[in-house]
Parts: sequence; structure tokens; C-alpha cells
Amino acid sequence: MASEAARFLAPRAWVGGGWASEVLLTVGEDGHWAGVRTDCPAAEAQGALRLPGPVLPGLVNGHSHAFQRAIAGLTERSPSGQDDFWSWRDRMYAAALRVSPEQVEAIAAHLYAELLRAGYTQVCEFHYLHHDTDGRPYAEPAELALALVRAARRVGIGLTLLPTLYMRAGFGAEGLREDQRRFASTPGFIAEVAQRVAREGGLVRAGVAIHSLRAVGEAALRELVAAAPEGPVHIHIAEQVREVEDCRTFLGQRPIEWLLDHVPVDARWNLVHATHTTPHELAGLRARGAAIVICPSTEANLGDGVFDLPGWLGQSGRWSIGSDSHVTRSWTEELRLLEYSQRFALRERNVTARAALCESTASALFDGALEGGSAAAGVPLAGLAVGQRADFQVVDDAADGLLGIPEDHLLDGLVFSSPSAEPREVYVAGRRVPAVETAPGFVAAMRSLWQG
Ligand code: ZN
Repeated sequence: MASEAARFLAPRAWVGGGWASEVLLTVGEDGHWAGVRTDCPAAEAQGALRLPGPVLPGLVNGHSHAFQRAIAGLTERSPSGQDDFWSWRDRMYAAALRVSPEQVEAIAAHLYAELLRAGYTQVCEFHYLHHDTDGRPYAEPAELALALVRAARRVGIGLTLLPTLYMRAGFGAEGLREDQRRFASTPGFIAEVAQRVAREGGLVRAGVAIHSLRAVGEAALRELVAAAPEGPVHIHIAEQVREVEDCRTFLGQRPIEWLLDHVPVDARWNLVHATHTTPHELAGLRARGAAIVICPSTEANLGDGVFDLPGWLGQSGRWSIGSDSHVTRSWTEELRLLEYSQRFALRERNVTARAALCESTASALFDGALEGGSAAAGVPLAGLAVGQRADFQVVDDAADGLLGIPEDHLLDGLVFSSPSAEPREVYVAGRRVPAVETAPGFVAAMRSLWQG
């Protein structure tokens, strides 16, 4: 994975939580940073490729269901009766039941290209769509997982694929609903798919996921964690109040409380959403070293609630962001919404900065997402530092929203005043990612799904 231009000179770059000048960035043959030198004298930077703007590290998108990109914008009309997470889910299933491997690949390729263009360089795919539309396994059990791998390879984004265990329709249910037939899985099947994906190598990593406590019982959950290869373990948890109440009814505890008491949760674990928590649960998660994946745009779209960010930052807990159902593909929008949701709830400003004991809200948000992203992806992607993968984005500081902003406030402007600014260039493992045409395949998949 050696880079053609293994040395870059950034006029300014985000190093160790702040802007540094004249930064010489050297990529090793393995695509990771071999050297990061700030205030580099011109003589030493000779021959390095000068980058056309300020440089930020690439970010991990910690939670994705790629096929849901196909319903973004299509669930914003109220059906008869109340509309909430559960009625949204029924409409989402309608897409999940129809989509073919070819359509999954085309939708994912377009989504991943959008994510890359926005500056995400690795995506964690929480993958529970396993079987054919009639519920029968494909001849290749990892058919749909491999469609996602092909999509990621085509556009050049890194992928952490998390085959997901899904066994029953809810707490106390014997099995799945008929409209969940494509998700049916056992711990053995999930471990097999994870091992198959892990062999792909390159920018592809594997972990495992448990859909939720409502979808998986204790014995199977323990079996999967024991059988899983090394890599991150993800689980949806405490996203909806009803889910918390059902968990208390059936298991006698709140979801995170139960998980901590019954499962060997450790630093491999990433809890997705964790919207409804108690201080005691957050302290327990912190003690185990687990991370949280917050999905601000989807949590807003689905009416989940507001994550206790000050409580988690007060514990110095790790967290990342995910775009989940992909109602936006922009990390700046996710970070802005994360802070704004706190302002709405608490009627205060700069909540993140104060909770993180940091001057700038944007830098507290960015550095938090950066650090937690590595944990979510199981890949060293924590910034411009030796040993981390050489992923970065070159900011377009001539974009309208950033014009005239004092240099020191560039990141603040990017998150809070520049909703549509995309980076000029994006690099993964030291290589510039070229543009790939994905729109025609995406449009064809959308037409056949929604107009056919
Ligand atoms: Zn999800």
C-alpha cells in the first residue's frame, strides 16, 4: 500500500488537538504515518507534495446500514395514526425485503462515495441483511456482505464489516416475524461470515454485532462473543424508551445495566445510541472501557431522544459518530446536531466544550469523534500521528462558509457555519482517492425499487 507521493507538506494541519504550521507528513510503506513533523524547515520539506489547503484527519463513520440510504427522504410523510420509530421501522422493512444483492452494491457504492467526498475514510457496516428475499440462504452465505465489500473497494473507502446476529422479533418472542426473514442468523453463521470477510484484507476489517438485546438472548450472545474473531463488537442499545421498558419487564433491568451484569463487556465493545442511560450505567461502561456510537441525525429523525453527552464526557468516555440511516452523509452536520441537541435540551451554549474542559466546541467534538472512531472501526485512525493510518482530508478554505474566518477558528467555522463545504481532496492510507462514477447505478437501483 505504498504511496506514490510518500511525503506531503501541509501549510496547516490538525495535530494533537490543534492547528500546526508547515507540517511534513511522511507515509510508510504500510500506508500508516511514519513521520509527522511540525514547523518543518523548507530545506527538509524539499520534494514533498504541497497540499492545497489545511489538513484534517479522516473520520470514521461508526454506524451504517447502507441499504437504508435508499429510503432517505422517503419516510417524511406521516402515515395514518401516530408516526414513531416503530412505524418507521415497518416502512424500512419494506425496502429491506425487496433489495437485491446488485441493488445493495449499487446503493452502497454511491453512499460510500458520498461519505468519502465528505471526509469519512472508514465506515462500520452493521450488517443484518443476510438472506435472499424468500429468507433462504444464498449459495454463498456471505453474498450480501461481499456485495458491501465490493462497493467499498470500488470507491476506495475503508470498511469494517460487522455481520449482525438477529434471532427473534422481541423480548420473549420465539423467533422472527415473517418480514424479518432475511435477518435470520445463528452465532455460528455470524462467526463464519466474519471469518470470510476478515480474509479479504486490504482496507477491509471484520468484527461482529448483536442487533439488540430484544433480538438476541443471553446464551446466543455469549456464544457469539466467544466465537468472534478479534475485532470490535457492536450492539444497538437503549435507543427507544419502549425498548428500555420492555427490557425491564422481561429481564428485570435496564438494557445497559443488564448487559454490564451478564456479559463480559470490555474495550472491544461499542454501544450504538445509548440514548437512555443513567449515571450509574455510564460509570459502568466507562469502567469497562467500552465506547458509544452516537448517531445524531438518525436519532433526531427517528425521535429517539438526546444522548447524555455531558454525563459521558464527564467520565472521559470514548465515543464516535455514525450516520446510521444516512439522512445526512456529512460529519460536520452530525457534530453540529450533536451539540445543538444538547443546547435544545439544556438551554445552554457550548455544552460540549464545557463538558470536555476544552475551549472550542468544534475541536472537542472533532477530537472526540476521532478518538472513538478508532475503537468503533478496530483500525488505528486517531489522527495525524505516527502509527495511525494515513487518512486525511484537505479542507476547502475558499468555500463560502469559511471565507475570511481567522485561521484559529477554521474548525469552528467548518462545523457551525459551513453546512455544505466538502474537502478539496481526500486520502486513504496515503493515497488520494479518485472520483468514481456511482450515480447511474444508484439511480437505476432507486428506480427499480420505487417505480418498478
Ligand atoms: Zn442502526
